[in-house]
Amino acid sequence: MSGRNFLFVPGPTNVPDRVLRAMSVASQDHRSPDFPALTRACLDGLKPVFKTTTGHPILFPSSGTGCWEAALTNCLDAGAKVLIARFGQFSHLWADMCARLGFEVEVLDTPWGDGAPVDRYLSALESDPQHRIKAVLVCQNETATGVTSDVAAIRAALDSVKHPALLFVDSVSALASIDFRMDEWRVDVCISGSQKGLMLPAGLGLVCISQKALELSKRATSRRCYFDFGDMVAANASGYFPYTPSLQMMCALRESLSMLAEEGLENVFRRHSYLAGGTRAAVMQGWKLNLCATATKWYSDTVTAVMVPAGVDAAAVIARAYLRYNLSLGAGLSKVAGKLFRIGHLGDLNELMLLGAIAGAEMAMLDVGMNIEPGSGVAAAQSFWRKN
Ligand code: PLP
Repeated sequence: MSGRNFLFVPGPTNVPDRVLRAMSVASQDHRSPDFPALTRACLDGLKPVFKTTTGHPILFPSSGTGCWEAALTNCLDAGAKVLIARFGQFSHLWADMCARLGFEVEVLDTPWGDGAPVDRYLSALESDPQHRIKAVLVCQNETATGVTSDVAAIRAALDSVKHPALLFVDSVSALASIDFRMDEWRVDVCISGSQKGLMLPAGLGLVCISQKALELSKRATSRRCYFDFGDMVAANASGYFPYTPSLQMMCALRESLSMLAEEGLENVFRRHSYLAGGTRAAVMQGWKLNLCATATKWYSDTVTAVMVPAGVDAAAVIARAYLRYNLSLGAGLSKVAGKLFRIGHLGDLNELMLLGAIAGAEMAMLDVGMNIEPGSGVAAAQSFWRKN
């Protein structure tokens, strides 16, 4: 098909040309005296992105899923109890992993479209005077439903009952796009991946661990080896890795960190919020469709999940968009399969790129017979951006 593919899934996201060029380098010896400079540029450059001065950023040759596992197996004793809210496919998969790894899981089942239920986290913590819950898990941005949760409020809930549980946050589709504050929220392990707000290919799992998490990892009895925090932090201290790192991905990361620093992280957040506002205007004011997110406070600035009316198969919209217009939209996952499609608006993008996706989604919806006014989404997004 002629023309470029319009990549509007909520990760992997567009890799900027600058980053592609930066990773186009010959392999080098990862034990050479020059290598530590690259390691330090990556790890030190990540600290402001995680908003930490005391945490340790770690790079695993992995994806976000590996980092979920790393958080659990490094910091918890075998069979320890964890608390997690499930309100979409990714929080579901994390809860499922906890069970498969043999942890005791208290799941707060929450309607898909809502965010993390702070009051229910609080009552679960209040009902745990023995402190059997060892870790509280929260998905900051549920990519499956386009919902952002209030991590600061979960920290406040822990503090209000003086509960010592660790706080693990999945920021896979939020980091470097929606504000995340490792130190201020006293997060113990933040989990992320390279292929979203960091504008890189998939292949690097990122975690940031608190000093407390690092100390606990020295004693925690869960089995782990490849993902051991202690081995990684010890090797990183001299600028090296316990095994062969991906030099090309690290060169790419160094470049994307420069791009984020040049734009300024707060400006990056503002750009995401502004672009998301235009997308939501297209959906709600233009197309007169609903979001999966059930309230304004949950709206995600990185992904918009669009409900299609009963009787329409969202998968047909996605297939038409891809096959006819070379536009990749995100699918509805598990419970919401066929009921919604998702527009990812994170990473390296601007208004005109997003207008292409909105126009393409509009054409695909018209083609499958949906009752949409041609041009209405594009017009609504344009007027939102012209006003804001
Ligand atoms: N958590 C969230 C919120 C995600 O969106 C994803 C992937 O999209 C994951 C975890 C899993 O990450 P990965 O696919 O990088 O393993």
